[in-house]
Amino acid sequence: MTAVPVNTPVLGGNEHKYIADCLQTGWVSSEGPYNREFENRFSHYVNRSYGIAVSSGSAALDVALQAIGIVRGDEVIMPAFTIISPAFSVVRAGALPVLVDADPLTWNMDVTQLAEKVTSRTRAIIVVHIYGLPVDMDPILDIAKKHNLKIIEDAAEMHGQTYKGKMCGTFGDVSVFSFYSNKLITTGEGGMLVTDNEEIANRCRKLRNLSFEPTGRRFVHYDMGWNYRMTNLQAALGVAQLEKVDEHLAKKKQIGNYYRTGLKSLKHFQQPLDATADAENVYWVYGLVAESCELADATVSHLNQQGISTRPFFWSMHEQPVFRKMGLFQLDKHPVAEQLSRNGFYIPSGLGLSEGDQDYVINSLLSVNG
Ligand SMILES: *Cc1c(COP(=O)(O)O)cnc(C)c1O
Repeated sequence: MTAVPVNTPVLGGNEHKYIADCLQTGWVSSEGPYNREFENRFSHYVNRSYGIAVSSGSAALDVALQAIGIVRGDEVIMPAFTIISPAFSVVRAGALPVLVDADPLTWNMDVTQLAEKVTSRTRAIIVVHIYGLPVDMDPILDIAKKHNLKIIEDAAEMHGQTYKGKMCGTFGDVSVFSFYSNKLITTGEGGMLVTDNEEIANRCRKLRNLSFEPTGRRFVHYDMGWNYRMTNLQAALGVAQLEKVDEHLAKKKQIGNYYRTGLKSLKHFQQPLDATADAENVYWVYGLVAESCELADATVSHLNQQGISTRPFFWSMHEQPVFRKMGLFQLDKHPVAEQLSRNGFYIPSGLGLSEGDQDYVINSLLSVNG
């Protein structure tokens, strides 16, 4: 039995109404009216000119790399500490991921290590905002400008977050979001690319749709593509969820601040920064980093025994068996990412969490480490 799940989505608005509308009108495929509406509304929310809805955040990354023209032999700089999706996309494109270690406090890419990674083959930087604080964008934008590099921004965990007052999702040549069920707004599965560049937007639209040509003889294809389309049903959920995005964001911050106060006396764990000079934490998840991996393991078992679910932190890219067996990253060492992978985990922070649930989690943690 799980007393406190790590995440429960909240579907408390117009979801039923809009889904019923899809069923009544028969629009269940990707050609329906909610697709356009969700793309328009979400891109407007993020402050970008174009939105291209796809079937997942991972699909969006595949499309983004192709759309900016990454090809075999290119190098793409990205964080060592991240979900695997961006690395899969880079490797699938035939390019080489070049990893940068994490910052020990924000857990984002350590931008001071970025410049030394640029070579004559570097074509792009993938920025991934991790867990609730935005990556320090200014140094990245400078390096990208200086070396003529493209930026793909993975803002899958950052709906509504800002960097120096500007929306996350506006910093990439193309930026991507996920609407998986643990994200701030959800379509069950789903994702979106956003950009201000019309040419990139058109390429994304084509790539997600088997590279059907917008004009000319149907079923004659000039390029490779995927079927990464989002359905009208998913988009209907998205439109309903977007109506609640500010509420969801406020709830996440409230959950984070409640943990912060309740866990003040927690010993032997590093907790998330509540802010940097550039932004307040939106606490997509509430991470804890133990002083040792033994302590992390013991605490996770203790919580799990009490019915409290946890998730370990990401496992660093250079230590992934899938990449090691391909011969990648043999000489890589990223001590901060290695330590975060082993000692970090996050506690329940879903939008459905109550203060009673949080008290239970807090007491359970403090009973062994307070
Ligand atoms: C969730 C997530 C993804 C992947 O999104 P999916 O929709 O699950 O494919 C990519 N990047 C980051 C940073 C994520 O958190």
